[in-house]
Amino acid sequence: MERDARIYVAGHRGMVGSALCRALASKGFTNIITRTSSECDLRDRSRVDEFFEKERPEYVFLAAARVGGILANSTYPAQFIYDNLAIELNVIDAAHKYGVKKLLFLGSSCIYPRECPQPMKEEYLLSGYLEKTNEPYAVAKIAGIKLCESYRRQYGCNFISAMPTNLYGPGDNFDLHDSHVIPALMRKFHEAKLKGEGEVVVWGTGKPRREFLHVDDLAEALIFLMENYDGELFLNVGTGEDVTIADLVELMKEVVGYEGEVRYDSSKPDGTPRKLLDVSRIRSLGWRHKKSLREGLRETYRWFSENYPAVRGVQGV
Ligand code: GDP
Repeated sequence: MERDARIYVAGHRGMVGSALCRALASKGFTNIITRTSSECDLRDRSRVDEFFEKERPEYVFLAAARVGGILANSTYPAQFIYDNLAIELNVIDAAHKYGVKKLLFLGSSCIYPRECPQPMKEEYLLSGYLEKTNEPYAVAKIAGIKLCESYRRQYGCNFISAMPTNLYGPGDNFDLHDSHVIPALMRKFHEAKLKGEGEVVVWGTGKPRREFLHVDDLAEALIFLMENYDGELFLNVGTGEDVTIADLVELMKEVVGYEGEVRYDSSKPDGTPRKLLDVSRIRSLGWRHKKSLREGLRETYRWFSENYPAVRGVQGV
């Protein structure tokens, strides 16, 4: 990508899109194009066409999506499948129609089967039943991968896809009903520390294992793929390392400086026992993550405590 290339970051206000904009700017890319959803609703084909016609982006990072935790997915399944499919159809087809040089679509590790062998290799896609709770979302993300593959095969478009593991970092959603475990624990420990509360409740048994990637590492990986990868097969993006939720809890206590007790509420679901990506393909291309979990949590907590309570999910930012 030339430094003055016209680069469209779809979803620039989200955690991933904003990390991408920061990373692109820091590498000297000067021509980053963005639109808020009220300026250009990506579910509306005519608006998407107007936008592509006017701006003629050369590179597209498709990081716009309707996302949410288990509760949001089960409450709004129709919006999750419709919005994501509509965004993918409109943006991917417009990228073809208006001659985009390269597009990178972002999926999610929930595309893999519920009972997938660990670590999860790219070729395990569609080898078994999906997790029911987020099936509509996962089906939409799988459709996005297949759109990119199909446009490549039929029209020769250079459209690639990346599947990130669980992400965290600045700009995350800290709503306790809706968020993932890292922002939830960060907020719970922080608020307990502020209020001098002696106990924090953690969901489940603490035994499940999860892999976590800092969103700045993801942004580096996405730019790396945009510049170095032209294959049809989508690629996993993760650290290749996982921790138990109990390990994460101890680390988070240390990072936040919370000295009270932790109670595990095993009436809350553990979810899947393990979710770890096989990252050997992206590693063999020469990319690996830089931030350790401890370092990434420290940085995220610094950002969170400086901005609290004006963070997403706390004050409705
Ligand atoms: P998952 O990776 O799709 O299961 O999503 P989550 O990030 O929501 O949950 C990961 C694990 O963290 C699960 O085993 C949860 O039970 C556990 N967990 C512990 N405390 C919390 C919490 O306060 N919020 C969330 N979301 N998960 C928690």
